[in-house]
Amino acid sequence: MPASEAAAPRRTHYTADLGAGMAGERVTIAGWVLAARRHGAISFLTVRDKRGSAQVVAKSGECPDDAREAASSLKPHSVVTVTGTLRASPRAPAGVEVALESIHVHSRVEKTPPFDPMARTVKNIDTRLELRAVDLRRGVLQDIFNARNAALGAIRAYFAQEDFVEVNTPKLISTATEGGASLFSIFYYHRRAFLAQSPQLYKEQLTMSFEKVFEIAPIFRAEASRTPRHLSEAISIDLEEAFADQHDIMDRVEAIVRAAASAISSHAGTEGAISVPDIPQKIPRRTYTEMVDELRAAGARTRWGEDLYPTELRKAGISGFYFVHDWPLGPKPFYVKASPDGKTSESFDLMFGDLEISSGSSRVSDRAGLEARMSAKGMDTAAFDYHLRTFDYGMPPHAGCGIGLERLLMALTGTPDIKDATFYPRDVDRLTP
Ligand code: ATP
Repeated sequence: MPASEAAAPRRTHYTADLGAGMAGERVTIAGWVLAARRHGAISFLTVRDKRGSAQVVAKSGECPDDAREAASSLKPHSVVTVTGTLRASPRAPAGVEVALESIHVHSRVEKTPPFDPMARTVKNIDTRLELRAVDLRRGVLQDIFNARNAALGAIRAYFAQEDFVEVNTPKLISTATEGGASLFSIFYYHRRAFLAQSPQLYKEQLTMSFEKVFEIAPIFRAEASRTPRHLSEAISIDLEEAFADQHDIMDRVEAIVRAAASAISSHAGTEGAISVPDIPQKIPRRTYTEMVDELRAAGARTRWGEDLYPTELRKAGISGFYFVHDWPLGPKPFYVKASPDGKTSESFDLMFGDLEISSGSSRVSDRAGLEARMSAKGMDTAAFDYHLRTFDYGMPPHAGCGIGLERLLMALTGTPDIKDATFYPRDVDRLTP
């Protein structure tokens, strides 16, 4: 029977578990052929799995002929299960190699991919994205996504420790939360609906029943601009908390960033491509007004009331993590609480240099106040009755924020393009794969 038709034995070890002290042990490893070489009567395979790689050697006279033939005809990326005996080899990873006894070929690759999946850089990102699952095998991307996994684990642990309840809110919605411009509209049976651009109103409602909630889920933004920091489908880490204000939420965001950075630092990856920035003992907090003054002193033409544009922030040499709080009230959504001065609001952004990572605020928690703000913005309060009516039955004071997971990863890993901080990016040009 050809080697590839017999049932494959089960993996006994990951390659990272193999060590020089195990010489003489019989092991079964499974993974992808990273490289295949032949020198006369000896064939070498490098087999990579989730945790590392190992050298497999097939030598004429030592190894059954059918196994050696099968191994020597393999091209990179083929999927194999290999059984053999470990022996010391100073030149092999971890000081041992596998002397081949049998090989099961699960998937034989004949084609050469359009880019080298082992390369550290590939010029054209679209070439990579067209074959994203193969692209994701590259070490640099493995490091980024392992960092993502470590960060999410630490963030969930933080929420558990702080007694937050994980929730999921609808992504199919009937009304725009923050204005209709950046919404995707869809058919919902016989009517029009939208993909949620944030869980805003639902998470606020949930503070009435659970006090402290968080959600890690997609947000959908019809962002027609092509920038390395916008996706049409992004993951938002949202939190909302009763009896809290913007300053409490800034403390939470700071703790979350710190937990994520520390988890990433201890899973720094194998390619040395990840650079975790220093996070100061206390992330600086400046008011919006102070920030405008600072930018103007540095020569920017920013006027009070305008957004803080990335170009101006770059020109002024602003770097690292910092909070900007007490933003002008005018452009803020209706649910953001006004400050007593009536001009500013209890709202903040967490920035990393010129990149916005998170936005949060204290919220309006009384129905009349909310209706007044909606009317002032020309919104139809009747369309939000499903939300407003909950305020009649005990809405606590509350505050919260959204943290863009991909943006956070860009900052914490030094990834310049947001497309490489998500598995399958969606943007104005791309709806596949
Ligand atoms: P920006 O001004 O940078 O476009 P925004 O003000 O629209 O962002 P918010 O609505 O405040 O963003 O969303 C909260 C967080 O969600 C942002 O700070 C960011 O981290 C993330 N986010 C928002 N829109 C996107 C997007 N299109 N792609 C990736 N992340 C996003």
